[in-house]
Amino acid sequence: MPVKGVGEYDDQNIFARILRGEIPCQKVYEDAWALAFNDISPQAPVHVLVIPKGRWVSIADFAAHAADAEIAGFWRAVGAVAKQLDLEEPGYRLLLNMGEHGGQEVAHMHVHLFGGRPLGRMLERRAAGG
Ligand code: AMP
Repeated sequence: MPVKGVGEYDDQNIFARILRGEIPCQKVYEDAWALAFNDISPQAPVHVLVIPKGRWVSIADFAAHAADAEIAGFWRAVGAVAKQLDLEEPGYRLLLNMGEHGGQEVAHMHVHLFGGRPLGRMLERRAAGG
């Protein structure tokens, strides 16, 4: 089903190709529901992408259409990745971009996991209303 602002799932998107093993990734974690690998252009000492194995364009698509087991499995995998990376004590940040205003570039749902240093403010501060 198309997702407004994002479109239909494209099997040639870069993360679909990583899932099929057609292009390499630096794998951090894998289970039945999710694959996690290092971002190719890291923005923090730890910058990992966690992606569901299903063909979901975005969080809107995933939330609306994925099975409960897949949703639970995916979010448990996100927690497992952070634990495996020993980030629970210092803490970390999750970021999920959705659609144009969210800045989503790859149309396969993914969560960014950042860590390894204090990460500062959640968003850039702008003038009121900006
Ligand atoms: P987003 O803007 O939320 O869609 O984020 C897409 C992310 O995918 C960016 O942080 C890119 O650096 C990352 N990325 C793109 N291609 C690859 C790749 N081949 N391997 C790992 N990360 C990638």
